[in-house]
Amino acid sequence: MIPHSLRLHFSGDWHDWLLTLKNILLPMYCKICHSRLLTEENLFFCPRCWEASPRIERPFCSFCGKPHQGVAGLGEQSNFPCADCRGKPNLFVRRIWGCAQYADAISRAIRLFKFYDKETLAEPLAELMLEFAEKEMDPEAYDCLVPVPLYPSRERERGYNQALLLTEGIAGFFTTAQLDLSLYRIRPTRAQSSLKSAERAENVRGAFAVRGDSLEGKRVLLIDDVITTGGTVTECARAMKRAGALEVDAFAPALAFATIRLDR
Ligand SMILES: [Zn+2]
Ligand SMILES: [Zn+2]
Repeated sequence: MIPHSLRLHFSGDWHDWLLTLKNILLPMYCKICHSRLLTEENLFFCPRCWEASPRIERPFCSFCGKPHQGVAGLGEQSNFPCADCRGKPNLFVRRIWGCAQYADAISRAIRLFKFYDKETLAEPLAELMLEFAEKEMDPEAYDCLVPVPLYPSRERERGYNQALLLTEGIAGFFTTAQLDLSLYRIRPTRAQSSLKSAERAENVRGAFAVRGDSLEGKRVLLIDDVITTGGTVTECARAMKRAGALEVDAFAPALAFATIRLDR
């Protein structure tokens, strides 16, 4: 007679059974608190650490996306521009949407996702974006979803473009939008994360261009894995505006909002 708890454990399909076996042979531990992970939902973080990573909630700046200090807990209050953005419309990126602060489990997840070939993190990160979009964004607000492109040799080396994986993961929410891959990198750039704030704008200046005219007159949502200084999304938006895009907003799972400086 198999004990009840074990029966439950082994009663799933082959996939569950293999997962159980994998858990025994190759135990997985949370990268933050080192507790044992028992599901495959998120291979690197336990649900508690994942949930504890600070989310961006209302009210936040309606241009740069950073949360307003000192007004936390106001819940349903509508969003408004922060002191840095007030009266200074952005030249290229109209507004930035971000789901979480670039901190704790989410910043670890994004670094793993980008630099260590951990493709499986696309799913929990896209899930985070969908949760945010359902609360804050209009599913019909955009015509085109554009991932920040990698230079082809970089993409070959990594095996995937992390921004494209996120874009595919959230595409179902944006009912009027099509995936558009006409934005590309003209030249290789150094990883923004390896540079000081002042060097980042220079590193990506003029690095992007658009093929064809599919963005002409379109409302574009540009997607990246993290927005740190805003240099990359600004340059992408500049190229897309030059190619006739009507407006460009940017969306990322995380914002390092202490450092965001938009070109105005
Ligand atoms: Zn944990
Ligand atoms: Zn702002």
